[in-house]
Amino acid sequence: MKPVYEIAVVHGDGIGPEVCAAAVQVVKAALGPGSPLHFSEYPAGAEHFLKTGQSFPEPTFQACREADAILHGAGGLPGVIHPDGTEAGLDFTLRLRFELDLYANIRPVRLFEGVPSPLSGVKAGDIDYIILRENSEGLYAARGSGALLRGEVAVDTLVQTRSGIERIARKAFELARQSGGAPRDGVRRVTCCDKANVLRSYAFFRSVFDEVAKDYPDIATEHALVDAMAMYLVVKPGHFNVIVSENMFGDILSDLAAATVGGMGMAPSAEIGAANGFFQAAHGSAPDIAGKGIANPYGTILSAASMLDWLGHKHGDERLNQAAARIRRVTEDCLANGLLSTDLKGRASTSEITRSVCDRLTAGR
Ligand code: ATP
Ligand code: MG
Repeated sequence: MKPVYEIAVVHGDGIGPEVCAAAVQVVKAALGPGSPLHFSEYPAGAEHFLKTGQSFPEPTFQACREADAILHGAGGLPGVIHPDGTEAGLDFTLRLRFELDLYANIRPVRLFEGVPSPLSGVKAGDIDYIILRENSEGLYAARGSGALLRGEVAVDTLVQTRSGIERIARKAFELARQSGGAPRDGVRRVTCCDKANVLRSYAFFRSVFDEVAKDYPDIATEHALVDAMAMYLVVKPGHFNVIVSENMFGDILSDLAAATVGGMGMAPSAEIGAANGFFQAAHGSAPDIAGKGIANPYGTILSAASMLDWLGHKHGDERLNQAAARIRRVTEDCLANGLLSTDLKGRASTSEITRSVCDRLTAGR
């Protein structure tokens, strides 16, 4: 247990500051007076780039690296790009991922009671699984190193390493033991999602996954090709506990999965390395709704709950795990009671949702 946990808060762009401020208020309400968390804000993102010419100042990077955890709103704005063509704002997330080696991107997919799903016949509890996206290699590791030849041929390289696959596979099995919803058909399972029938890199991913699986005989395993997986997430989402996949496949599938449980506003995310943890909702800065006060804060609130869980487990600090559980319980209650933002076909504003979540947390403390 530490006396104080330093949380580096980076609001970012678009709706980022709105949903990030909501999550900070909720964490404060859950922990109450005497909270061991200390929040410090640091600038980064596209708007900061427009003002200063820098999208990710070095002091912000150092503070993030040294903090006990990083909480982020969202970054990037359309058309705001660096001279080299990369997106200002996105570099915040990418630099943290690669330089802090945040290899495990954990994306829980859960349908809450009261939230409309575009899938017919599903109810709360039917969809409750985790997409574990490998976050440090795969196709996205080629970012910036691909080649464009004579304006005619473009090449990017998909890199998979044995150690990288082993550690993400182990993480998948550990997650399946702790979370990922109820057993399905009497078993808890990890599904390895790849394209092993076509590409060698994915066949390697699958074979290393199978080797690691031998160490976890209590967990069922299976394989699914990514194209079939896109269909399964729509027609049998209740089958899954933990799905583990390469970086780009995990990125694509998690947006599809989010759509089945209410949309991007309901998609929390945690990016974990050996030492650092970075927490933000899976959505982007949604500039189309920024400043209107209607952004859905639940995804960021749930990401902040994951932050408390991660810190609590890491430091053996039960208070943080209890606060995370309270936030999840209150979130469930609020959604079940119809406290829905416009993307969920409701009318509640960001501040109404935040206030209500905070009031319930304060009352229940
Ligand atoms: P990125 O490139 O960062 O992934 P994106 O272009 O994929 O971003 P998002 O910002 O993730 O786009 O979201 C797409 C759309 O979904 C937004 O334009 C917005 O209408 C809606 N959306 C996303 N997040 C939320 C939210 N928290 N609340 C309400 N609507 C949202
Ligand atoms: Mg996106």
